[in-house]
Amino acid sequence: MINSMDSLRGMVCLVTGASRGIGRAIAVAAKTAGADVAVNYFRSEKAAADLAAQLDGPGGRVIIVKADVSDSEQVDFMFNQVERRLGTVDLLVNNAGVAFKGLLTDTGDEDWARLIAVNLTGPFLCSRRALPSMVKKRFGRIVNIASMQGVCGASCEAAYAASKGGLIALSKSLAAEAGPSGITVNAIAPGPVMTDMLLADLDEEEMAGLLSLLPAGRWGQPEDIARACLFFLSPHNSYINGSVLAVDGGWKA
Ligand code: NAP
Repeated sequence: MINSMDSLRGMVCLVTGASRGIGRAIAVAAKTAGADVAVNYFRSEKAAADLAAQLDGPGGRVIIVKADVSDSEQVDFMFNQVERRLGTVDLLVNNAGVAFKGLLTDTGDEDWARLIAVNLTGPFLCSRRALPSMVKKRFGRIVNIASMQGVCGASCEAAYAASKGGLIALSKSLAAEAGPSGITVNAIAPGPVMTDMLLADLDEEEMAGLLSLLPAGRWGQPEDIARACLFFLSPHNSYINGSVLAVDGGWKA
């Protein structure tokens, strides 16, 4: 019998980019499932602190940890803090991400570098830092929040799609490499989810057009992604590894 209310009890879960949007919903879900949760933020310290205060209460502990996930030293410092205060990370959710919209010819060197650094190098750095203790315990869960753009590609989002496509390849490769050590690595490919990222990306007309294409007839909500993430984080789901789950309301980019 699986009791979802305490299915992650005794485990330490680090969620990157958990100050807002999808990461925030994943942190809430992990805490509700009994995990000790480390909420990573970069710029939104107040939002992260408010979330920790909101989650204060019975069940797992919650801490906030600042780091730019694209910076190796900051990632190492973040993990050191989590290990000191909560213990080694059992469950890693690589969620932090940034977007860029524009023609490829309007994509500057810095735009390209930033997207690859945050969306792809970040998960690489965090996974590399998390793995040794997971291997030692012979248990670990890594969930990478990719995108349907990384599966299907998208006009005017080549850099974003390339970073997410790379993240999917990273997930599958690491799943094969770490699977024998009791670690699963899976990716979630969300469709459009109602967060700051989506709102910053689309004007009203584009929003209406996109909504009309969603078979579900509604926007994805951060909680839709969080529920899928909990599924992959569960210790019971040890035979699901290297998969890419579309959570897109039936839309295929
Ligand atoms: P969001 O609302 O813009 O939130 C982005 C989060 O990432 C924030 O918590 C932000 O933290 C964090 N972040 C950004 N750069 C960071 C860095 N260098 N280091 C650490 N944290 C950083 O975005 P979202 O929609 O929730 O997106 C979450 C993930 O889902 C992203 O990977 C995104 O690509 C993916 N996704 C989103 C959609 C969608 O439609 N929304 C669709 C497919 C995939 P601070 O504010 O603290 O800096």
